[in-house]
Amino acid sequence: MAQPTIASRIDFQPTGRALPYIPAPVDRHPENIAAELGLAEGVTLDQLCAALPAVVDQAMRTALPGHYSREVAERIAAGMIARLRQRYEDKPSACQYRDCEDTEPGHYDHYNHRLRVTGEDGSTILDAGMAALSGSEAGAVVYVRNEEFTDAAAVRAKTAEIRQLLDEADAMADRVFADHKARG
Ligand SMILES: [Zn+2]
Repeated sequence: MAQPTIASRIDFQPTGRALPYIPAPVDRHPENIAAELGLAEGVTLDQLCAALPAVVDQAMRTALPGHYSREVAERIAAGMIARLRQRYEDKPSACQYRDCEDTEPGHYDHYNHRLRVTGEDGSTILDAGMAALSGSEAGAVVYVRNEEFTDAAAVRAKTAEIRQLLDEADAMADRVFADHKARG
């Protein structure tokens, strides 16, 4: 009976909930526009953009009457709106986990299952990977085969053992095939 693998245990459905310790950068929250511009709380980017054309139109009539035309006022307002939206709206950004395989913008579940050594038949001899899932209490995890680790020191302690095993396998191979040849 095969043991359930790490991959099968961590490939569950995303919950859609953000990891609590990885908040989006503050300047990407559209609602922070009010605080930054010194407006009353609760003014959204959409409300501000909706108000801008009339505000610019009125301001131009008052301050630059000699240069006013409805078209010019509209063009100025459109430029301001475009710059505001560029500044404040959520934009797809690279994942904060450099090893994450998920390329979907704004994803919540991060993983990499690519590190793998396979045998002749394609079955896995050794694999390692990472996961940081939105529904997980464990936080970020790096696994080697069926063993999960929650910090780099623990990973290194186990991979040191694996390296030693591989060195011993090499040495054993040298002995076994030399002995076999000597036996004739
Ligand atoms: Zn990711």
